[in-house]
Amino acid sequence: MATPWRALWRRLALLFAGAALLGGLMDRLTLALLLAVLGELAWQLGQLYRLDRWLRGDRDAGPPRLEGIWDEIAAHLARLRRQSRKRKRKLSKLFQQFQQATAALPDAAVVLGEDDRMVWCNGAAQRLLGLSPTRDIGRPIVHLVRHPGFVAFLTQRRPSDGVEFPSPVDDAILLGARLVPYGKKQRLLLAADVSQLRRLEQMRRDLVANVSHELRTPLTVISGYLETLLDSDDPALETWRQPLHRTQEQSRRMLRIIEDLLLLARLEARKEPAPRQPVNVPALLTEIADDALALSGEQNHQIEVNAEPTLWMLGCEKDLRSAFANLAFNAVRYTPAGGRIGLRWFADAGGVHLVVEDDGEGIAPQHIPRLTERFYRVNRDRSRGSGGTGLGLSIVKHVVNQHGGQLRIASALGVGSVFTCDFPAESRLEPITVAPRTGAASR
Ligand code: ADP
Repeated sequence: MATPWRALWRRLALLFAGAALLGGLMDRLTLALLLAVLGELAWQLGQLYRLDRWLRGDRDAGPPRLEGIWDEIAAHLARLRRQSRKRKRKLSKLFQQFQQATAALPDAAVVLGEDDRMVWCNGAAQRLLGLSPTRDIGRPIVHLVRHPGFVAFLTQRRPSDGVEFPSPVDDAILLGARLVPYGKKQRLLLAADVSQLRRLEQMRRDLVANVSHELRTPLTVISGYLETLLDSDDPALETWRQPLHRTQEQSRRMLRIIEDLLLLARLEARKEPAPRQPVNVPALLTEIADDALALSGEQNHQIEVNAEPTLWMLGCEKDLRSAFANLAFNAVRYTPAGGRIGLRWFADAGGVHLVVEDDGEGIAPQHIPRLTERFYRVNRDRSRGSGGTGLGLSIVKHVVNQHGGQLRIASALGVGSVFTCDFPAESRLEPITVAPRTGAASR
C-alpha cells in the first residue's frame, strides 16, 4: 500500500485507540469515540474544502499545502492540470497550422454534415463558391450553390466521379467538384478551378482538328494524282509502278488516320448529344457484316449476325455505324483466316446490347485497360500491316458513351475477344414492324 495511505491508517488507529483509552478511563467510551469520529470528519472536510477552493479558483495558482493523502491528491491533480494545459496548447497550435494550411489551399474545401449542411469551409471556398465561414454555417449547401448540375450530383445516392459547373462568383471560372465521404454522415466537398485545364484541352483538340483538316486537302490531291499515274498505261512509268503503289498505300493510310482524327474531334466537340433518331440496328449489322466479309476476302471468315429483328434503338446512325463497323473490322483483322466472328444484338432487363465476338488471337490482360487510348496498339506493326489507325476503339468508346452506354472488353490470348456495347434501356425502340433482316452472312 502507498505510504500516505499507511500513514492515514496509522493516524486513525492512534486516534481511535487514544479516544478509547481516554473514554475508558473516564467511563465515557461512546462519547469519546463519537468525538474522535466527528473531529476526524471535520478535519477531512477542511482538507476537502481547501482542495475544492483551489480547483475552482485561479488556474495558474500552485496546489495548496494539504496534509497526508490530500496533499498527494492535490499534487496529482496539479500534474493532470499541467498536462491538459500542455495538450490544449499543442492542439490549438495544430488547429492554427491546419487553418493556415487550408487557407493557403488553392482548392475550395467544405465540410458537409447531416442533410449536407455546411459545417466548415476554407478561404478558397469563399473565393470560388462565394461561401461565408460565419454566415453560412448550418445552411444546406444546395441553398448556397444552386447550379442544377451540382445539385443533381449532390443528391445522387452514389455520386459519380465528379461534376463541372461555373463558379457562382464568376461565370468565367469553371469548377470541378468531388465528394469524399468520411466519418459519420460527413462529406468533404472539394472544388478546384479547372478552367485553365479545360482551355488547354480545347486548344489541343482545336490544334489536332485544324491540322487534320489542313492536311486532308493536299493528301486527297496527292492520292488523286497517284491513282491517275497508276491507271496510266505509259511504259515510262513501268519501273515506278511498285514505289507508286507503296506511296499510294501510305497516303491512303494517312487519309484514314485524318478521317478518324476528324471524327474523334467532331465527337469530342459536341456539347449536346447528337440528335437521336430511330436506328434499324439489325439492318445496319447486316450491312456491316457484308462489308466485313468483303474485308475478309480470301480469308474466308465465318461471320454470323444474330439480331432481334424488331429491336431498334434511338441514336445517331452515322456514329453507331462507325462504332459497330470498327468492332466488326477489328474482329476480321485480328482473327486468323477461317475464324468465326459473331455479331449479336439483343435486349434484356439491363438495357440493349451489341456483342462482337471472335475466336481470334485475343489480347493479353495488361493491354485491355489501355486499348481505348488513342494510338494504343498491342502490336504496332501488326496493326499498321492490317490497315489500322490505332484510333478505332477510341471512336467506339466515345460513340457508346455519347449514347449513355459503356464499352466492355473481355479477351484471352489465343482464345478470342468479346467487345460488348451496353446501352441503357431508354435507347430501346420496340416494337417496330420491319421485315426480319437477320441471318447468317458467311461464305
Ligand atoms: P487499330 O487500328 O490498331 O486496330 P484500335 O483502336 O481499333 O486500333 O484497336 C487497338 C488495338 O486493340 C489493336 O491494335 C489491337 O492490338 C487490339 N484489338 C482490337 N480489336 C481486337 C480484336 N478483336 N482481337 C484482338 N486484338 C484486338
